[in-house]
Amino acid sequence: MDFIETITQRNDAFVSARHSASLKIIPSTKTILIGCLDPRVDPMDVLGLKPGEAAIIRNIGGRMNPALVETLILLPAVAKAAGQEMGLGWNLVILHHTDCGIIGCYKLAPDLLAAHLGVTRSELDSMAITDPRKAVAMDIAAYKANPALPAGFMISGLVYDISTGKIEVVVPPSRLRLES
Ligand SMILES: [Zn+2]
Repeated sequence: MDFIETITQRNDAFVSARHSASLKIIPSTKTILIGCLDPRVDPMDVLGLKPGEAAIIRNIGGRMNPALVETLILLPAVAKAAGQEMGLGWNLVILHHTDCGIIGCYKLAPDLLAAHLGVTRSELDSMAITDPRKAVAMDIAAYKANPALPAGFMISGLVYDISTGKIEVVVPPSRLRLES
């Protein structure tokens, strides 16, 4: 059986046992989580999230880049279409992790990575690519400095340790910006 057949069968089990048509497009915890695409760091799994609790965006390293910023800028329109303003009470959680594949990208394809992150090659060298704790703090500073993002978010930065499975709250929650 190929993997598409496998997941089709698993979907049949999901439909009969767990599917709920009552989930809302607005995440029940009003949380947007940004993480890495690494399958070892699936936020649904390692953070014990339940269906519908959080909207999750995953890219290489969970690093801020222009595409991610564009997505975040569009989210208030998505929320508004669902009848909610993205004011206070929303969380933006940034989840980076140890042993991230972005370190390999940095070593093997730095020009591609710089283009992906929307920075110059020399700026890339100051982005703490090899240090997830510094990287998550840098990204949060960059989110806070971007006036185009919804101001009401509480933003926090976590690092997941691949070797232990534990998360560390590196940047505790704070307002993205003070104006609303
Ligand atoms: Zn990663």
